[in-house]
Amino acid sequence: MGFLVKQECPQCGGPVELDETDHILQCPYCDVKSFLFSDEPFRFVLPHKTQNKEILYVPYLRFRGVVYACRAREVAYRIVDITRLAVPLKRFPISLGLRPQAMKMSFVNQKTEGSFLKCFLKTPEMLDQAEKQSSAATSDKIFHRAYVGEAINLIYLPLYLKKGALFDAITHHPVARLPRDRKKLSSITENIPPWNITFLATLCPRCGWNLEGQRDSVVLTCPNCQTAWEARRGRFVSVDFLMLSDQDPGVTYLPFWKMSVRTEGIPMNSFADFMQITNQPKIIKKAWHHQGMMFWSPAFKIRPKLFLAISRRLTLAQENSDCRKEFTDQTRHPVTLPLAEAIQGIKMTLAHSTVSKKEILPRLPVINMAVKGATLMYLPFHQTAHEMIQPHTGLAINKKSLEFGRYL
Ligand SMILES: [Zn+2]
Ligand SMILES: [Zn+2]
Repeated sequence: MGFLVKQECPQCGGPVELDETDHILQCPYCDVKSFLFSDEPFRFVLPHKTQNKEILYVPYLRFRGVVYACRAREVAYRIVDITRLAVPLKRFPISLGLRPQAMKMSFVNQKTEGSFLKCFLKTPEMLDQAEKQSSAATSDKIFHRAYVGEAINLIYLPLYLKKGALFDAITHHPVARLPRDRKKLSSITENIPPWNITFLATLCPRCGWNLEGQRDSVVLTCPNCQTAWEARRGRFVSVDFLMLSDQDPGVTYLPFWKMSVRTEGIPMNSFADFMQITNQPKIIKKAWHHQGMMFWSPAFKIRPKLFLAISRRLTLAQENSDCRKEFTDQTRHPVTLPLAEAIQGIKMTLAHSTVSKKEILPRLPVINMAVKGATLMYLPFHQTAHEMIQPHTGLAINKKSLEFGRYL
């Protein structure tokens, strides 16, 4: 379950409420849109009303997303929502429980007063520990793991010192005795307010026009100069895109990442190699030997079972029909899954596409895959009462699953 964030509009200072999954702040007062950006995980504080006390912020690492695991015969997945203490201090609460959901949080910023403890926990480490504790853990060997994150954040719990003990600054309950060695605490404290979010003006870097996007969009588009943009290292960079033509005005376009991949550890230089390696029950066409290998992935959030199925279906189809680099007036579903997350799924798609899994899956640890280039592909879908159907590939996606995916 996601949480809510309070934030002032960077333009007019008006109070705005955001969902955790939002990337665009659209101010209801001045109507200005800002894109929220950070190269690092977002950092939030649980709000407190304690006054005249020195506050110590204790970090908790949060992961919400899907953990995929390739075992000998299958690709398994689990939806995970977990928050864990990120400092090596015993006696502190290990988790924040439901508090992030129950309270409105704020971004850490330069005005947040207090000292911050450093984060020592890494996401894979946290998920590994959780996996070991979970009752679902089996002894099956795992050949590859991937984490496709919807949200990876740091949440800070505010504490204050009173009579040698640390108190929760929200409930005023004692949390832990102060460590006997005071230096230990100061040695793991960050000196400066450690982090600040960047608000990017949603203006086209090429022509200055207002970029279009919905609140959960990670790629914004310019209707004026026909370009697409994603934020990287504090600025918008151009995204290569193509639309597969369809004259029907009623179609909806869904976005997919098409990734050109270089593989080491297994000879896979063409689509023909891929079909052979994954034992597809199809006769290899001559042209496939000259066709570079492209992995496909949804560029929108959707449940893991469908994520795997769609990635496999489109990777096997290698749709290459008549495409244009121009937006049409037809409806477009927002891009809610960044390329970086789609890349996490490539090995899973190889595993999930493989017919005789027990031959390929144990080789996954020695296979390296690097993305050479990516294109955002918009494919047209025709709507029926319950489904969206892609006419070229026959791919059908349930409408409710698509809508539900936006709230994952
Ligand atoms: Zn405003
Ligand atoms: Zn433009």
